Amino acid sequence: MKRVDVVVIGAGAAGLFCAAQAGQRGARVLLIDHADKIAEKIRISGGGRCNFTNRDATPANFHSRNPHFCRSALARYTSQDFIALVQRHRIAFHEKHRGQLFCDDSSQQIIDLLMRECEDGNVERWQPCAVRALRAREGAGERAPRYEIDTDRGPVEARSVVIATGGLPVPKIGATDFGLRIAKQFGHPLVEPRPALVPLVFDAAEWAPFVALAGVSLEVEISSGSGKQRARFVEDLLFTHRGLSGPAVLQASSYWQPGETLQIAFAPGTDWCQTLSRAKATSRRQLGNELATHLPQRLAQAWLARGGLPEDKPMPEVADKPLRQLAESLSAWRIAPAGTEGWKKAEVMAGGVDTREIDSKTMESRRAPGLHFIGEVVDVTGWLGGYNFQWAWASGYACAEALAAD
Ligand code: FAD
Repeated sequence: MKRVDVVVIGAGAAGLFCAAQAGQRGARVLLIDHADKIAEKIRISGGGRCNFTNRDATPANFHSRNPHFCRSALARYTSQDFIALVQRHRIAFHEKHRGQLFCDDSSQQIIDLLMRECEDGNVERWQPCAVRALRAREGAGERAPRYEIDTDRGPVEARSVVIATGGLPVPKIGATDFGLRIAKQFGHPLVEPRPALVPLVFDAAEWAPFVALAGVSLEVEISSGSGKQRARFVEDLLFTHRGLSGPAVLQASSYWQPGETLQIAFAPGTDWCQTLSRAKATSRRQLGNELATHLPQRLAQAWLARGGLPEDKPMPEVADKPLRQLAESLSAWRIAPAGTEGWKKAEVMAGGVDTREIDSKTMESRRAPGLHFIGEVVDVTGWLGGYNFQWAWASGYACAEALAAD
């Protein structure tokens, strides 16, 4: 029987970082992953350049049933800490948009960083290796192993087990519900998992007028969700053949619940009522051309066709009422998605292991001493823009500190 201090299950972002940190603090760590390749999600992240953190990450950029849960871990390991690590490993990076930091070269550099950190912590890695069962040992005394793990490569005993198996998105590269099943096995409640940071789709009949707009992109203000879970983003929206995508919609999708309506304002900051009435008073352009000074031309045409407005009508001849209705539809387009593109296209899982039964300082289960949950499997979901990796690093770090003290 192999015996170690800590078994970390899942060699993705959170698991690699936690294993390295715990190892560097003196724990004997075994890291197990069932996938053939290491850290596939890091490799495909950020279009292959890994948006590894966000310079401005704060708890406000995360959602969870308990929005305060992430505070402690995020405060103890900040984006500045990870940036310093990236600099120590001499990885060149750049800021793309609103604090989002990407490798200049390739996401492989972040995987290499994590592997070198694991080497520094003498972390042993079994991969590929499936975990068949995890059991608490009966009557484990002081300092004795508390868990038995059955694996493809034989049984292992460990004092602590860290579940870092991530969320359900992109099953073809190794995502499983293992972490959720283990949580249930040990009596943890779950917050219903759902795809987030995901394109939204619409009923074919409702979407028919917009199909021709596939590929059109523009900045919008989008609001989604309800009550305390309502959020508003100003980002780019992209029309697709089946619905809406782009950063604005991915962000909004994390707050959207089936049956709810999205509200979209085109050209945020534009007072459409005032803009169109001024144009009516001063412009000789046709309505379609006038609108195309503010919106992509294809969208302007489709919008007028949808509202039954002739695009060739000169501005001064457009009646006040349809002009007002047009202005209202451009400032508050309300549309109800039929669903999302699902786990295949989602970047992250919202929901997961309910934080009520997890200690926010150590990531340890309150139900099973020595069992920890970190990363995406926990009900903490970041916005688009490097926040989800920051949660993986921060929750992994908090857990590693606790493991070293255990
Ligand atoms: P993961 O990194 O998913 O790691 C989980 C590991 O557990 C995997 O290696 C998996 O093989 C293993 N595993 C699963 N089940 C088992 C099992 N039964 N037994 C053993 N091992 C198992 N976030 C950002 O912040 N910035 C980005 O640029 C970004 N881009 C993304 C792009 C895409 C296309 C996707 C899908 C996600 C992106 N994300 C991004 C989200 C980010 O990748 C995740 O939030 C992050 O990887 C979560 O880390 P984790 O360690 O919890 O899980």
